Amino acid sequence: MATLPNTLALIGNTPLVFLKGPSDAAGAEIYGKCEFANPGASIKDRAALGIVEDAEARGQIAAGGTFVEGTAGNTGIGLALVANAKGYKTIIVMPETQSREKMDTLRALGAELVLVPAAPYSNPAHFVHTSRRIAEETPNAVWANQFDNIANRKAHITGTAEEIWAQMDGRIDGFTCAAGTGGTIAGVGMGLKAKDETVCIALSDPYGAALYNYYAHGELKAEGSSVAEGIGQGRITANLEGAPIDTQFRISDADGMGWVTRLLAEEGLCLGLSSGINVAGAVLLARHLGPGSRVATILCDTGFRYLSTLYNRGWLEAKGLAVPPWLASA
Ligand code: PMP
Repeated sequence: MATLPNTLALIGNTPLVFLKGPSDAAGAEIYGKCEFANPGASIKDRAALGIVEDAEARGQIAAGGTFVEGTAGNTGIGLALVANAKGYKTIIVMPETQSREKMDTLRALGAELVLVPAAPYSNPAHFVHTSRRIAEETPNAVWANQFDNIANRKAHITGTAEEIWAQMDGRIDGFTCAAGTGGTIAGVGMGLKAKDETVCIALSDPYGAALYNYYAHGELKAEGSSVAEGIGQGRITANLEGAPIDTQFRISDADGMGWVTRLLAEEGLCLGLSSGINVAGAVLLARHLGPGSRVATILCDTGFRYLSTLYNRGWLEAKGLAVPPWLASA
């Protein structure tokens, strides 16, 4: 096996693994892209690297500069790691309502944390607007702006989509995943369509998000709610503009958790809930495309990030979600 030239080269080139349970359930071949294998243990390392290198290419940041972002989760982790590897600093703005583990993780990686009270998006004190202001006021700083900076989806056009196409040997009938910023679904969708216009791109939307209704009926309208982190969008972000969505499914947390539990118990994969929702969507897409179809989806992040939630009996009970047998007495 060859060596890699530096730690940033660890981002991407993730394995694509055959998922037996979902494939059997659909009578098809379902494959999961192992994004938990990135250094920051999520899909967002790709977007973080793409955004940082785009700012460098545009001459927006000088040596020792600072990347600022409003995020509570995986993007902050990815940005902190990429910034460290390139000699930049990171300021992460998050609502003070976020979990203690997330604050501890970001501090542990070296990010400067700015906590703000939770506020609606329309309020200038919202964490996203606060992060933009801090970037404007900080010398030699760039606002990562993951929702509307299309360097995010470009990382998936040139990276994730190319890799999936090569790993599937160009024999792929469908792709599905959920949207947070929309960078993954739009970027992979555009990249795969450029190879083969007939690849079916499906959005798997959680409840509480507005995109299912938008693609199905042309109206941004949310119904219900979800506890899934990192996904669930209420507007057409710049990353979602022009996304080639052919069809859409709405997936409940219970169905997503069903696959999270089965993939751990039967296949030894410990994942977060967005991965479970993606796999549930992949089963629906494969059934829609017919017996023997070949479908890829994204395994977005590691379940180790959710020990106090998805893998905690008390939390699951409080949310009305099924408790796996091995946690019933834990
Ligand atoms: N799953 C998780 C756990 C995430 O953190 C994200 C990022 N927001 C996504 C899925 C969705 O990715 P994207 O932002 O590319 O739509």
